[in-house]
Amino acid sequence: MVEMPFVNIDIEDEFAIRSTSEVNIKKKRKRTTGRENEEDSERKKKKKKQSQPNYFISIPITNPEITSGVQAVQDTIIQKDHRLSKAMVHCGSLHVTLLVMHLSSKEEVSTAVGALSDSKDLVEDLLKGKTVDLSFQGIDHFKNEVGFVKLAESDHTAILMEIAETIKTIFQEKGILAGEDRAFKPHLTFMKLSKSPKLRKQVKKIDPSLYEKFKSHYFGDEILHRLDLCSMLKKKQPNGYYYCESSVILGEKHAAEPDDAELVSLSKRLVENAVLKAVQQYLEETQNKSKQTDGSPVKTEEAASGSKSENENDNSK
Ligand code: AMP
Repeated sequence: MVEMPFVNIDIEDEFAIRSTSEVNIKKKRKRTTGRENEEDSERKKKKKKQSQPNYFISIPITNPEITSGVQAVQDTIIQKDHRLSKAMVHCGSLHVTLLVMHLSSKEEVSTAVGALSDSKDLVEDLLKGKTVDLSFQGIDHFKNEVGFVKLAESDHTAILMEIAETIKTIFQEKGILAGEDRAFKPHLTFMKLSKSPKLRKQVKKIDPSLYEKFKSHYFGDEILHRLDLCSMLKKKQPNGYYYCESSVILGEKHAAEPDDAELVSLSKRLVENAVLKAVQQYLEETQNKSKQTDGSPVKTEEAASGSKSENENDNSK
């Protein structure tokens, strides 16, 4: 060992170095993998955030009968469990979500505004002047975490599904990340546990017995007349409704602008009226002429209006 003074040392050192470097490499690997994991989860979080919906197409609820019915359900539930007040949807923001999407820039928001405007024409073509009457009856839930008023099944809900599908296609064709994997189920949410993370820790499930009384209650009808492009994150309006980037009114075309068939029938009626008036005038004139020739008194317009104003004066006394 004396002859090999550095052997052990060397070996030891080497080992020491090697073992230290091994530890270091392992630590480094661990740190790198740790960092990689962190980076990975950050990347995943970022990706999730990038694809998470932040905008939606909404059908606002404007019928006060529905709003007050929903308010009654909410009050009943809160009376039984006051903690759930945090889960309630403000009555001013009641809506039916037609489509959710992710818009990541101002440019994408303007693309979406254009897509909503295009949707108006296509939806109106689909409706052909008919209205969509959405009838709200009964209550249901998603996983006992979301409470909603149901839409009564009818051909109107079938049209609503078609409208939702049409709008989704338009948005997707414009390159917008829109729609969900699950099937579209139109509903009117009045409470959701996700509104309050604190509440979510306290209450895992909404007990259906809390709204038993309203299980088959009829809430009212909403005629579809407006679609809004709303932000999920921007500050809501003072009335409690979502911030709207843009809105379209449906059925305006039929109310304000008559279509070709209506224009043809309108001009026909105008021509008929003009002909009728001319014939009447001709008949009156020929009658007057024949009366003048047989000596009977002529009732002129002035005379007629004069007698009318006299009568009016009589009435005012
Ligand atoms: P909304 O009425 O759009 O505010 O949706 C309320 C909640 O219900 C949201 O958390 C949605 O993710 C959830 N939700 C909407 N549609 C469905 C569905 N078909 N199945 C399960 N959960 C849904």
